[in-house]
Amino acid sequence: MSIRSVQVDIPKIFYCDYTGGPFEKCIQCERQLREEGIPYLIEKALKPYGRYASYATIFEYAVCLTCADGMKSMLSKESLTNLMEYFQQNVGFNPHRQLLVSSEDYDPIKWIEHCMVSGRHVEQLAECQIYAYCVGEQLVFTEFPYMISGPVLDEVVDLLSAETKDELDNFKNEVVDGPSEFQDLLKAGPKVFI
Ligand SMILES: [Zn+2]
Repeated sequence: MSIRSVQVDIPKIFYCDYTGGPFEKCIQCERQLREEGIPYLIEKALKPYGRYASYATIFEYAVCLTCADGMKSMLSKESLTNLMEYFQQNVGFNPHRQLLVSSEDYDPIKWIEHCMVSGRHVEQLAECQIYAYCVGEQLVFTEFPYMISGPVLDEVVDLLSAETKDELDNFKNEVVDGPSEFQDLLKAGPKVFI
């Protein structure tokens, strides 16, 4: 099967719940994401009530790819090695995603219904994080979008070195202390970047 780039309008689940509209700015460098049409990632941590029909937002942000790469450098070598091993061992054959790809079903909600690692359905989860890769006003299907369930996130955090946890805490404090419109929503995170 040939791989083609599929794009759709960014669905509401990946909107900024603080403003009710699409994300406008990179949380770190504040570049205008949609105006400039640059690639960026969206990460949201949610407490879903059922099938994403309603949920509480724990934190949310959009970050341009340049800044996202910078965030990755906050991870220590030890943490990176642990994370890579974990995902190599645990993200193998994923029947839900395989089915969506083979039936060319590009409904973003379906892509985030099951945890990419454990396969658990969002209905079974008290907490999860969802991720999307976007360019301008479009969500682009790659290995994104995906969802990681709360229990898996806890396991992942345990893989991080103390050094990395400090770095992430510092980052959180900088962002939360800054004059950011995401201040309230960010108090609980970001926990981890994947
Ligand atoms: Zn940026």
